[in-house]
Amino acid sequence: MADRDKATDQMKLWKDGRGSQRPDVLTTGAGVPVGDKLNSMTAGPRGPLLVQDVVFTDEMAHFDRERIPERVVHAKGAGAFGYFEVTHDITRYCKAKVFEHVGKTTPIAVRFSTVAGESGSADTVRDPRGFAVKFYTDEGNWDLTGNNTPIFFIRDALLFPSFIHSQKRNPQTHVKDPDMVWDFWSLRPESLHQVSFLFSDRGIPAGYRHMNGYGSHTFKLVNAQGQSVYCKFHYKTDQGIKNLTVQEADRLASSDPDFSIRDLYNAISNGNFPSWTFYIQVMTFEQAENWKWNPFDLTKVWPHKDFPLIPVGRLVLNRNPVNYFAEVEQLAFDPSNMPPGVEPSPDKMLQGRLFSYPDTHRHRLGVNYLQLPVNCPYRTRVANYQRDGPMCMYDNQGGAPNYFPNSFSAPETQPRFIESKCKVSPDVARYNSADDDNVAQVRTFFTEVLNEAERERLCQNTAGHLKGAQLFIQKRVVQNLMAVHPDYGTGVQSLLDKYNAEGKKNTIHVYTRSGPSAVAAASKM
Ligand code: NDP
Repeated sequence: MADRDKATDQMKLWKDGRGSQRPDVLTTGAGVPVGDKLNSMTAGPRGPLLVQDVVFTDEMAHFDRERIPERVVHAKGAGAFGYFEVTHDITRYCKAKVFEHVGKTTPIAVRFSTVAGESGSADTVRDPRGFAVKFYTDEGNWDLTGNNTPIFFIRDALLFPSFIHSQKRNPQTHVKDPDMVWDFWSLRPESLHQVSFLFSDRGIPAGYRHMNGYGSHTFKLVNAQGQSVYCKFHYKTDQGIKNLTVQEADRLASSDPDFSIRDLYNAISNGNFPSWTFYIQVMTFEQAENWKWNPFDLTKVWPHKDFPLIPVGRLVLNRNPVNYFAEVEQLAFDPSNMPPGVEPSPDKMLQGRLFSYPDTHRHRLGVNYLQLPVNCPYRTRVANYQRDGPMCMYDNQGGAPNYFPNSFSAPETQPRFIESKCKVSPDVARYNSADDDNVAQVRTFFTEVLNEAERERLCQNTAGHLKGAQLFIQKRVVQNLMAVHPDYGTGVQSLLDKYNAEGKKNTIHVYTRSGPSAVAAASKM
């Protein structure tokens, strides 16, 4: 069957790979050989079952515990492995060993994902895509937990749980709810930039190989002399940008909901290894002080003409996971994993993620998740005073002292690894950043990056989704779009007028404690 791809044929290929090797003897989880795995042990042919059927209890008890908590966001994903290669010297900016010299390679793991859908959702939905990279460096793991866009919907991490709730399922109906989505976005206009990217053509990439990746946050790079700059990371696809039309995406959502996972798996299986060119942008502390925008605002980019892309290297993916659960479902990225030479900036979203990511992993995978092979910093030796906890693997650091300081030659700190100093002197307060210029860069995107046809599709895609929200929310969204550019606002409004005249969405159901009562929402707004 010539038309079967490598992903479809995986079982056959696995069998072929074993050649004439005889099947292994079936065992229990404890390795005890099993004589019969088709018939449970019963008192007589019609039952009941016996507790002493340990073949049954061993199998069933493990099955009952197969699932670990799904990621709250980025639940559906694909992973692959490969390497990062340095092609240009950036040691003047950064002392991290991963950038040590041109030609140096470092093993990497990458996980791509959609954001809002559950683990079984379709790959071709309009959604940002996660693009997380783990570098297994000589000085510990470095995780860049980025996306396929350089910006995000919010700039303060305190809003993150509410933002995600608004994009997921309605707490009562358990269906996606355009009212929740657009209510939040329109009340927080800092989302305009990311929302405009999302409803542009790049909102539905044609698989994971044809999209860019971005570290998104602002980071700090420190060189061997202790000098620091701020930095952003970009990885541009060498396969070229390719997106799906709404029609193609809808068709694939039903005919091949795992399109992006399959595409990546097959490309790598066929030796067609995807790669991305890795760049940095650099901003001095002085530039940061005087820049017209907050350089730590995750809703903004650093324009290329002011902060040009500096080539650094390339990311290449050349190995598929051998087992999805072990190597992808358990693959845990954490932006607080940074090797010496890479440090956080004050970016509020990054600061929030420094806490949230490892906190999530300890919940999903347990406190010893860094001992799992795919998360283990295997190119260095872990030497610390953490001990015990569930699922402690290996020797738990044997007889080495488990307290610090101590007098017994156990691991010592080294001053050369102390983080760079930075000045912080402002008053502690809850600063309101809601009006921190939410439109200037969106206007540039709308007027200078998109051409006329792309602008038209942006308006169509936006109105096509927004029409599902109540009229007062539609009105608020359009007001925000008008502030970006009148053509944006009127473009969306005229399409909404058409949809609303068709009267499709004007009647909604308001759910009360006693049950649903239909009201003509439009007439009350
Ligand atoms: P440039 O003209 O140098 O860059 C424009 C950028 O827009 C390119 O990186 C391009 O990516 C990207 N782009 C093109 N179409 C889309 C799309 N539909 N969705 C998202 N990105 C797209 O201009 P500036 O650096 O001065 O930025 C101008 C505006 O471009 C910004 O306000 C921002 O909205 C957007 N932008 C800027 C980025 C940056 O880091 N400076 C990155 C992405 C977008 P590519 O080159 O891969 O085609």
